[in-house]
Amino acid sequence: MVREMDYNPNQIIRMMQLGMKQKVLESRAIWLCVGCFSCISQCPNRVNIPAMMDALREMALEQRVAIQEPDIWAFNREFLNQVKRHGRVFELGFIARYKLATKAFFRDMKAGMKMALKGRFRWFPRRVKRLREVRSIMEAGYASRG
Ligand code: SF4
Repeated sequence: MVREMDYNPNQIIRMMQLGMKQKVLESRAIWLCVGCFSCISQCPNRVNIPAMMDALREMALEQRVAIQEPDIWAFNREFLNQVKRHGRVFELGFIARYKLATKAFFRDMKAGMKMALKGRFRWFPRRVKRLREVRSIMEAGYASRG
């Protein structure tokens, strides 16, 4: 993802050390980290960059910084809304809400059609049996972050 980022993860760390908080929170880089953990697996000091990026995204949201990658935020938000509602992702509902949020109605149309033809989508949502537990896990996660 580093090719797409405006600052490399090591630059983000250096910027934080130099007190450039606003610039960091306004960066695209914090939204483009996909949490793949490749950096941790290769870092001799096991610097947890994905956790750092998570924290920075949350700070950016809390401080209402203009989000440089609004589609990624819409994706995350709608994904979590689905999990909260059903305990899992209801793909059609997720795609509909994501498309409404981004107004990119025809992007990825081909891939979506392929998935539909292969029967990858359910037409109606199904809730997990222990939805209350899923929600309490999510609430605990939100509460632990203050
Ligand atoms: S987890 Fe690390 S390697 Fe993966 S996208 Fe984020 S910064 Fe890059």
